[in-house]
Amino acid sequence: MKKEPFFTHHLLQWFKKNQRPLPWKGEKNPYFIWLSEIILQQTRVEQGLPYYLKFKKAYPTVHDLANAPEDSVMKNWQGLGYYSRARNLHAAAKYISTELKGKFPDTYEDILQLKGVGPYTAAAIASFGYDLPHAVVDGNVYRVLARYFGIDTPIDSTKGKKMFFTLADQLLEAKQAADYNQAIMDFGATFCTPKSPSCPTCPMKKHCTAFTQKSVNLYPVKSKKIQKRHRFFNYLIINDENCIFVKKRIEKDIWQNLYDFPLIETEQMLEGRDILKEKFLKKLSGGEKVEIISKSAPFRQILTHQKIVATFWEVKFFCGICAENASYIRTARKNISQFAFPKIVNQYNEAFQNNSLILETF
Ligand code: SF4
Repeated sequence: MKKEPFFTHHLLQWFKKNQRPLPWKGEKNPYFIWLSEIILQQTRVEQGLPYYLKFKKAYPTVHDLANAPEDSVMKNWQGLGYYSRARNLHAAAKYISTELKGKFPDTYEDILQLKGVGPYTAAAIASFGYDLPHAVVDGNVYRVLARYFGIDTPIDSTKGKKMFFTLADQLLEAKQAADYNQAIMDFGATFCTPKSPSCPTCPMKKHCTAFTQKSVNLYPVKSKKIQKRHRFFNYLIINDENCIFVKKRIEKDIWQNLYDFPLIETEQMLEGRDILKEKFLKKLSGGEKVEIISKSAPFRQILTHQKIVATFWEVKFFCGICAENASYIRTARKNISQFAFPKIVNQYNEAFQNNSLILETF
């Protein structure tokens, strides 16, 4: 048997015996398939699974999701990261509910028009929901194909992308598109894994170029490394009779539509409190007296393109904060769990509640 049919045949055989029993497997309702695929973008199955169940229960139809308040969608998404997915999901649900009268699009091209849906997700929905012959290509697929066929063209180059998409379409078993796509995703996620693939027991090892050439760890090839931007956040915990202030992040930036605390971003991490007081807090207080009570040890969060270091400063304003900051929401500290915060703010909130904050007091 030639290399290509050998691959497809053995992959489908492997899938029959080893497929993962997941709640969306065999699902034919395109709305639920769409939910699962958006939730699983850049997310491990174990992490995404409870969110899929939560969304299915909270929004059993696309109309329920479309009519839900944005804050409740963001709150249900809290902790999953990549929040633009939730915003796009909500916008697309509104579009399907009103423009398409609740009918989910049923061609690859129309599915691709939905906000937040790229070629991978469109192929997954088209094949799982409608048995249409479109091959999925994601990180797992790049890795499996690069290793098996020994392709060293960088997967993040235009040439590489084109090459992998063409190959994936050639390998797809058109009559079993859903099974084939699910098979290659499961195989990449559980068997031909990034760090320790199960090569010795692999049914494809005989024809696998990377295995036969003892070069599995050299694939897939990437051309560029992402440069991360370092950002330093100083959050103000403004204590005011058991209340603190939160605000919605409305700017076009990370965590849009989530909540956080009044924020001062600086070029570097602030060591002492004097610069914070002189340079920033005086303006906020309108020149009135401000006291800095403590600062937390730094919290860190790594995103795809950014590294965030956040310090939480507890401050007291003696004459209230300036009127221009009316966008701040004053809330009882015990009620802050009703807001959807980014992970780094939640970590602070949890440490505060557990009394495990490491503080420098002044
Ligand atoms: S032999 Fe190893 S590298 Fe090749 S397809 Fe199988 S698991 Fe992946």
